[in-house]
Amino acid sequence: MGATSASPRGLVLLVAVAMVAVSVVSPATAFPSGLPAAGSPLPNPWSAFQNLSGCHMGEEREGLGKLKDYLSHFGYLPSPPSSSPYSDAFDEYLEAAIATYQRNFGLNATGVLDTPTVEQMVAPRCGVADVINGSSTMDRNSSAAAALRGRHLYSYFPGGPMWPPFRRNLRYAITSTSATTIDRATLSTVFARAFSRWAAATNLRFTETASASDADITIGFYSGDHGDGEAFDGPLGTLAHAFSPTDGRFHLDAAESWVANGDVSRLSSFGSAVDLESVAVHEIGHLLGLGHSSVPDSIMYPTIRTGTRKVELESDDVLGIQSLYGTNPNFKGVTPTSPSTSSREMDGSAGAGIRPGSGFVGLVAAVVLLLAL
Ligand SMILES: [Zn+2]
Ligand SMILES: [Zn+2]
Repeated sequence: MGATSASPRGLVLLVAVAMVAVSVVSPATAFPSGLPAAGSPLPNPWSAFQNLSGCHMGEEREGLGKLKDYLSHFGYLPSPPSSSPYSDAFDEYLEAAIATYQRNFGLNATGVLDTPTVEQMVAPRCGVADVINGSSTMDRNSSAAAALRGRHLYSYFPGGPMWPPFRRNLRYAITSTSATTIDRATLSTVFARAFSRWAAATNLRFTETASASDADITIGFYSGDHGDGEAFDGPLGTLAHAFSPTDGRFHLDAAESWVANGDVSRLSSFGSAVDLESVAVHEIGHLLGLGHSSVPDSIMYPTIRTGTRKVELESDDVLGIQSLYGTNPNFKGVTPTSPSTSSREMDGSAGAGIRPGSGFVGLVAAVVLLLAL
């Protein structure tokens, strides 16, 4: 089903996003204003989950209700009745939801909230759900999905929404930038590069247009609740989200420390820096109809490490998008190695690099100060 026809709850499941990575380097303007003062830990909306490590069936622990909210948001649990929020009891439903999550992310499907699982859960990620309308877009064991995709792990949104054949030249507009300090020219460059990754593999073409009314796709930065039922959550947590075809909305959390220029991998100590282009490539996949993939190196994997650049389509992404839109005869195929793919090797356990530290803040302050001089 398309996001445009979804109920508010369906929108919650469909929309969302946030994957990301980073890279800042030069311009201080690539950072949003209002970075935390040096010494204060950067907040992560999910960091409290780390206190739940080791929890298992039968226990009752404060915070498990919040973890259920998280799993519900990404489709692993049904929403509770509005009159009674989730309890802190570790019941069989939570155990089953955790096991599904573990299968999707290549973890041991024990249903126990072990440390690797918690580390994966607190990693910054795309806000789009992994399980939509009860079917896991990432389930490599789903017989229906397997029949549809062969042995591949890419996925579609339920119903396979895509841009129709008469819409192969898509126009995009960068429509809401007041919440970011990244300059307009830089944004145009970054998003053009991100779209070009998908254009290279298909017959789709993308052109920037100045007018939202003239655009198929709109891109904007927003803070907190911005009217589509998918409120952003501040630094880290969910980074961005996008709607399935032919909705065309792509929203980025303005509170992230977006890096729009330079080699983010050289700034890996920047514990909350997220590479804008990396997240853009991922979200464009959603705009075109792809769901999440279980392949850790793929662009459509739901999480991304901070300080990491991941912009090149992996073979799973290419097969997925070409199955929807056909092949660009000039496409040279997936490049097996490159400077950016080498940084992907660190992506596997997205949780490892996301904890904020004062070192990041101090480094940011130093860069800003140097540029100001
Ligand atoms: Zn996503
Ligand atoms: Zn939104």
